[in-house]
Amino acid sequence: MTVVDNTEVADLLPADTAVDLYVGGQWRAAAEGATFDDLHPASGRVLARVASASATDVDDAVGAARAQLDGEWGATPGVVCGQILSRVAELIERDAEILARLEALDVGKPVGQPGMLDVPNAAATFRHFAGWADKITGQTIPTAGYFGQPTLSYTVREPVGVIGAIIPWNTPLMIAAWKLAPALAAGNTVVVKPPEDAPLSILHLARLLQEAGLPDGVVNVVPGLGHITGDALVRHPDVDKISFTGSPRVGKIIGAIAAETFKRVTLELGGKSPQIILADADVDAAINGTAMGLFFNQGEVCAAGTRVLVHRSLYDQVVDGLAAAATAQVLGDPLAETTTMGALVNATQRDTVLGYIEAGKREGARVVAGGGAPEGSGFFVQPTIFADATNDMTIAREEIFGPVGTVIPFDDVEEAIAIANDSQYGLAASIWTRDISYGHTLAGKVRAGAVWVNGWAAIDPALPWGGMKTSGVGRELGWAGIEANTEEKVVTVVL
Ligand code: NAD
Repeated sequence: MTVVDNTEVADLLPADTAVDLYVGGQWRAAAEGATFDDLHPASGRVLARVASASATDVDDAVGAARAQLDGEWGATPGVVCGQILSRVAELIERDAEILARLEALDVGKPVGQPGMLDVPNAAATFRHFAGWADKITGQTIPTAGYFGQPTLSYTVREPVGVIGAIIPWNTPLMIAAWKLAPALAAGNTVVVKPPEDAPLSILHLARLLQEAGLPDGVVNVVPGLGHITGDALVRHPDVDKISFTGSPRVGKIIGAIAAETFKRVTLELGGKSPQIILADADVDAAINGTAMGLFFNQGEVCAAGTRVLVHRSLYDQVVDGLAAAATAQVLGDPLAETTTMGALVNATQRDTVLGYIEAGKREGARVVAGGGAPEGSGFFVQPTIFADATNDMTIAREEIFGPVGTVIPFDDVEEAIAIANDSQYGLAASIWTRDISYGHTLAGKVRAGAVWVNGWAAIDPALPWGGMKTSGVGRELGWAGIEANTEEKVVTVVL
């Protein structure tokens, strides 16, 4: 196996960091030795040179995955699958520090955050689906019979087949777990395409799958570029489903190409989620929760609560509180314990975010914190709060995917709900109120896949995840994750 030894900041990585393809249980270089540079966001220097899979490599991976559907994996009982997935959860916990370090170095996030969320959530996801693996049952369904003869009808859930899993760079380990664990529990095989900006934690996860005893070829990992490796996976005739998490722009391309071969698709896309702070809210809790929803993971979160809708009676207090929270962020080395906000993933993302900040200024919103990039190397952006914004401004309509909050006042709840729903997106929303009963009522009025009352990002592997409108198609996690990874077959016996 090739390991990192020749790059500019390779010494920061664990000594045996994996950078090869994992195909058919073998670690190997890409065809013709192709690689891509994986950057270290905090410095902009090259962290690792990673094998870059070609269409031929993808074909090998799909072949290995397909062979296992009719091979050892296809004959593996659910209870054994569950034992393997439980073991994966244990191994993730054993290697928690390695995984958190890889995620911090590769994505740019403070190491405490993957330690607190990404890694435990990945372990919990494997453990959750370990429990489902031997409990995927069908139904017996009474019917009127068949031309006068009685019948027995029942359903079974079968694996969809070979799943192509395409992963974004913001939380690669966690999202890979969200796709792998339900797919495997349901008996599928998988080809994973990690993000080119942050592939290392997924390659380490592949090692853990191997160590846990998953048969060779059941999961294959093909790092590479989106328009080459990802495209080859989406077009491959032997892939039955694409499970994609990423931008709406790429999701649209993938949905269209997948339709040509009638592949199933799950698309988890972007968001522009509202945080609605009602007049009776616990304002300190709302400010803290809202600040987390803006600045966690540098704001590179699909569910980031970037439209902060505040009742006018609390507006100045919330604006001041969020400005203080922004100013209190400590930007710096993701491995330093004192750092609370790291770097954005690459120069393009930094420049996109800075472009949105300029658009906010140009369109008349008032900067009350941040508003630019700090001096020095690395792809850092200052946490930024805009006040006096309206919902028709670019900063309120488009996903920024950086640490930028747009605070909009409202006068009554109907207006707040109208603003919340006036968006192309519908991924998540928060409602802050002391009136819990009213919170339930309002939750029913917001068009979003997840609504949190008095919280932000209360996610769990047992809860379905996905969006409405441009935020996506389908759901993953919980029972919905099993449904999304199975085909339902009906068997009718004429008695
Ligand atoms: P992206 O769409 O640029 O890339 C996502 C993945 O798709 C990468 O692995 C990339 O290599 C691959 N890809 C790119 N072009 C492709 C093509 N033509 N064919 C096949 N694959 C291709 O997204 P990103 O910048 O990595 O991630 C940020 C986006 O992801 C944001 O919009 C964010 O909201 C979204 N996201 C959504 C969720 C969710 O659960 N809804 C979670 C995390 C991120």
